[in-house]
Amino acid sequence: MFLKKSPILFLFISVVLFLPIFSAKASVAKPVKILIVPGHDNEVWGAQYGNIKEANMTLALATRIFNSLKKDKRFEVHITRDKNGYTKEFADYFINHKEDIVSFKENAKQKTKTEIAIGNFIQKIGVPHNKVTSNTAIKLYGINKWANENQIDAVLHIHFNDYPRKTKWTIGKYTGFAVYMPEGQMANWKESGQLAADIYLQLEKKYSTSNFSAEKGGLVPDQSLIALGANNSLLPSVRSVLVEYGYIYEKKFRNYETRHRAYDDMASLTVKGIKNYFLLTP
Ligand SMILES: [Zn+2]
Repeated sequence: MFLKKSPILFLFISVVLFLPIFSAKASVAKPVKILIVPGHDNEVWGAQYGNIKEANMTLALATRIFNSLKKDKRFEVHITRDKNGYTKEFADYFINHKEDIVSFKENAKQKTKTEIAIGNFIQKIGVPHNKVTSNTAIKLYGINKWANENQIDAVLHIHFNDYPRKTKWTIGKYTGFAVYMPEGQMANWKESGQLAADIYLQLEKKYSTSNFSAEKGGLVPDQSLIALGANNSLLPSVRSVLVEYGYIYEKKFRNYETRHRAYDDMASLTVKGIKNYFLLTP
């Protein structure tokens, strides 16, 4: 009698015996390495509306994302700056490796020039961005170099948007978020695009996408942003996504309470998108 039921018993025994092996395997698996980059810094703070500076907003949101991911042992999370400025890791890296970063940047640019000249890389006009100073470019290329050397799986750049207009103190006409990802010819485009889509799908649940025509649809490929690995400065394994979470003058950001609620909601939606990509994607 008992033996006749053996297939079920066997199944039961296998589940009981093998389950711990599987979970043990999962717990020793390498954590996913994420680098969070709150856009801009205390010296060059990006956009400003009234007395609200973009660099403070990106830090507030980035810190929430960092703290949330940090609680999950399946992730190893890094951040480039905190309330005291660049973390020691990055401040030291920018100073001690300045020359290496400059040659890394120049090599990357030179390689792309050659690729363009022989027709292997087609330049596309994307959304116009503010030109960065050479000091900022060194930091951004430095972050890419660091991410390559430290086998980072994904870099997340956090920004709030603005656009050139005569009257900076008036409320602009564009609203909504946009998720930027590397353009299809870049080494890291494919995986980055999937991650961007997962983050987009979460943000879209609560927020509307940008109504600026160049950001139409909310998922924007770009080949000129250093953050995304311009000039193939990020390895194929280093995904990079840059989120513009909204225009800085939007109503929800103007009031302290709604702004802080937005940080909380945006952080949890972003974390959900990251987890969906890394933990649920087969
Ligand atoms: Zn910005």
